[in-house]
Amino acid sequence: MAAQISTGTSELRDITRMERIGAHSHIRGLGLDDRLEPRANSQGMVGQAKARKAAGLILKMVQEGRIAGRAILMAGPPSTGKTAIAMGMAQTLGSDVPFTMIAASEVFSLSLSKTEALTQAFRRSIGVRIKEETEIIEGEVVELQIDQSLTGATKTGKLTIKTTDMETVYDLGHKMIDALRKEKVIAGDVIIVDKASGKVTKLGRSFARSRDYDAMGADTKFVQCPDGEIQKRKEVVHTVSLHEIDVINSRTQGFSLCSLAELRDQINSKVGEWKEEGKAEIIPGVLFIDEVHMLDIECFSFLNRALEDELAPIVIMASNRGMARIRDRVLIISTRPYEPEDIEQIIKIRCQEEDVNLTEGSLAVLTSMASQTTLRYALNLISCADIVAKKRKADAVDVDDLRRSVQWLKEQQGTMIFDEEAPPQDVQ
Ligand code: ATP
Repeated sequence: MAAQISTGTSELRDITRMERIGAHSHIRGLGLDDRLEPRANSQGMVGQAKARKAAGLILKMVQEGRIAGRAILMAGPPSTGKTAIAMGMAQTLGSDVPFTMIAASEVFSLSLSKTEALTQAFRRSIGVRIKEETEIIEGEVVELQIDQSLTGATKTGKLTIKTTDMETVYDLGHKMIDALRKEKVIAGDVIIVDKASGKVTKLGRSFARSRDYDAMGADTKFVQCPDGEIQKRKEVVHTVSLHEIDVINSRTQGFSLCSLAELRDQINSKVGEWKEEGKAEIIPGVLFIDEVHMLDIECFSFLNRALEDELAPIVIMASNRGMARIRDRVLIISTRPYEPEDIEQIIKIRCQEEDVNLTEGSLAVLTSMASQTTLRYALNLISCADIVAKKRKADAVDVDDLRRSVQWLKEQQGTMIFDEEAPPQDVQ
């Protein structure tokens, strides 16, 4: 694999990650129009117009290189979409742009130092889009002949090949032209007869070096291999994070020859070389640090330094606590509590995403529960109530299913960890 770099080092310990499955799977962007104005309901996003617009503007400035080395602070009450907006920003940058989510408390671990945990989080958030070429082979029967009558060439050959698609036939045609040349045949057109369709294609000598390659697909090209073989190759692109490259390289090397810092330096310079050679593109992603008020001064000074690096991702910190002092390097986006209409829309979007039907009554109850507790609590109740509804073979969740789900949650108190901001609430 291209992402592998040979070097000896100690094995890199990886933070084991657990994420809530799909809580934000409906978010596909920031839902802004071309003028960066928020659409009412777009790309899974509803409401929070000011914050979404601010996020879009900051993103544009970052993309245009007008701001760098600064972090964004999302400040607002629980469940007001801070994570959702950060995720929307990453998706606006591209579908393969890395989005890393950590809670600040994860940084304090017994097995990793704070700076190592943060370094890993940074490197997870930087993608390397690697371009590689792979050979393509597929299948279909055709007949390939070399017809000297067209050009008066002295040699003729006939070959029946069991092969692939027409493009591979072109490939073989190319090889035959080459073979003919080796036998000092000056000219010889290759006629390809597709047995199935009867289609006749002539490949002139010019084909060997022609721009026809482009017509066959911009990403397909012929490559002269060192042994003289000609292969048809297609360019494929895949994205890995710097952290994945670190892990691959530290795992494949058994013993310690250099420190992790050295390994990372080597990887950075290798990736830099790939970039110079046009083999790779470096894509800074988004690092989202939740509960940022938990970080200590050492972590902040690490962040300050790490943001200066040219490989830094966009760092978005979030907090629902009031912060006493805000550093001037931080751009602030505030989120506000949702209006009931927005909550209703978001609940509907989640139901679509989870393929759940709600009765009118249960939609109204869930909406008011979200206002009284948090949006997250109401959204989590959807799947629980759906299981209850399915048990009684109903095709829609009604108020009673919600009531039973809350009852069940209450019975689990003591065995499950509850969101302290949203303990189970009675259905009114
Ligand atoms: P906390 O402070 O508790 O971490 P948060 O502000 O990060 O919360 P989210 O986790 O983003 O809030 O939001 C809670 C749920 O509501 C998520 O499932 C999220 O995808 C969804 N959500 C929040 N805001 C929106 C929005 N504007 N449009 C669509 N879905 C949203």
